[in-house]
Amino acid sequence: MLNKKSVDDINVKGKKVLVRCDFNVPLIDGKITDENRLVAALPTIKKLIADGGKVILCSHLGKPKGEPVPELSLAPVAARLSELLGQEVKFAADREVVGPNAKAAVDVMKDGEVILLENTRYRIEETKNGEAFSKDLASLCDVFVNDAFGTAHRAHCSNVGVTQFVDTAVVGYLMQKEIDFLGNAVNNPERPFVAILGGAKVSSKISVIENLLDKVDTLIIGGGMSYTFSKAMGGNVGKSLLEEDYCQYALDMLKKAEEKGVKLLLPVDNVIADDFSNDANTQVVLRGEIPDGWEGLDIGPETEKIFCDAVQDAKTVVWNGPMGCFEMPNFAHGTEAVAKALADTDATTIIGGGDSAAAVNQLGYGDKMTHISTGGGASLEFLEGKELPGVAAANDK
Ligand code: AMP
Repeated sequence: MLNKKSVDDINVKGKKVLVRCDFNVPLIDGKITDENRLVAALPTIKKLIADGGKVILCSHLGKPKGEPVPELSLAPVAARLSELLGQEVKFAADREVVGPNAKAAVDVMKDGEVILLENTRYRIEETKNGEAFSKDLASLCDVFVNDAFGTAHRAHCSNVGVTQFVDTAVVGYLMQKEIDFLGNAVNNPERPFVAILGGAKVSSKISVIENLLDKVDTLIIGGGMSYTFSKAMGGNVGKSLLEEDYCQYALDMLKKAEEKGVKLLLPVDNVIADDFSNDANTQVVLRGEIPDGWEGLDIGPETEKIFCDAVQDAKTVVWNGPMGCFEMPNFAHGTEAVAKALADTDATTIIGGGDSAAAVNQLGYGDKMTHISTGGGASLEFLEGKELPGVAAANDK
């Protein structure tokens, strides 16, 4: 059980608080085209303002690779955050991030004021977790708050290194929610616990499958990765996505599931296409009966029913990876059916970041899920059972 100190466990009145946020937003010509991440950061920022802290925000944006890149400045974020918060967020423009300008701006802060530092990746040490920049960041503050889950699987100065040089390092509300669901609910689930995995490759989900096989009652495998299982079981998969090298692994997993008493569900039918395009000719065939020249691009209708039924009686469901090539509307049906089944159940529903989160939001089911993770890579590593450096670095309760 992960039990980290949070912003609710500290008193920041009159203190300088450095908050690592995830303001890595898409920008086109200096305009923010999706501000979800800014909105998601507001509860923690508002709490620290209300408590009378001097709030110093920091984040990375894109990959400037250790040098100032004007197009990747966080200045537009400061402007938009000011509007969202209804109070000025002063931008501490500084090519060194923590240089003379930023230090001067922090020195004159009053309680309840907010400033935003420049893109942390303007500094070459940031992604190397170098000591100099970690110390610079720590020198600005009395307390550190990490609310950036998207980078929690990386050990960088602004989320891990800095904690070595401050006495108090806690998590914000966003991080806390990720820990509660992806960490604690997955490790200590209300049963039956069903995991649904999809996406392109078995090879990228090996550790997730192994970790979840020790925890779940039912494991559902769809998407491109299911064809490697189908081939391993002696089926024909045509030109479907296949990782020959992982066929033995697939068989081992089937055996392991059986030994552990885990129900492992694979597609029983597939929607196949004669071309990798939305306009391709399609047909539905049974698993393992895909003719040469055809490829499986979605789960079939019978499989949809089986997968959705398995979810119905669950108390906890975790989902990572689409059931087919959902980017093409004609092959999105399986992914949509699973999203709907999760939206309709009373179970605790946890959606891993990345494609499944995007699919659920696109379909308008976002507010029907218990938790949609904000981190793609980070949520996958949590599901692998790994310790995330950004989480581990926060003080225990
Ligand atoms: P991942 O990043 O591993 O979760 O994979 C997500 C990608 O897998 C999406 O872009 C899907 O289009 C793709 N995908 C899912 N099912 C299939 C399939 N049957 N054939 C090819 N690609 C697939």
